[in-house]
Amino acid sequence: MDVNSIIEALDTLTVADLRRVKAEVDRIAELHAWGQTAASGLLDNTKPESHPTYRQEYTRCGKPTCKKCSAGAGHGPYWYSYQHSDGRMHKEYLGKNKPAELQQRELAALRSATQLNAAFGKVVDMIGLELE
Ligand SMILES: [Zn+2]
Repeated sequence: MDVNSIIEALDTLTVADLRRVKAEVDRIAELHAWGQTAASGLLDNTKPESHPTYRQEYTRCGKPTCKKCSAGAGHGPYWYSYQHSDGRMHKEYLGKNKPAELQQRELAALRSATQLNAAFGKVVDMIGLELE
């Protein structure tokens, strides 16, 4: 079925049916959004040139006398990058410091959140809502 005939068919539906359709569309859209989130993370094995995922992990040295390993979480946390290429997952040790690319990404996310907040503030002003 092509999209045009789906849209035309919507005209014939009752409000109750339209609500059901909308709920279903929302559900699918949410799944897509979830899929995109997953695609940027470790679950994505399909995009060979996907950007790396960064994780902090603790390691265990395996020495029986090591207190950090026997009593604590182990050594670290250390940063690792995970990147899928050549059909397999590559893990790389990066050390104690947060990777620069991750810092850039966090900064970009913060910036877009700030922009979103500003846009929301404008909408609130426009409709004259008063927030506590
Ligand atoms: Zn240890």
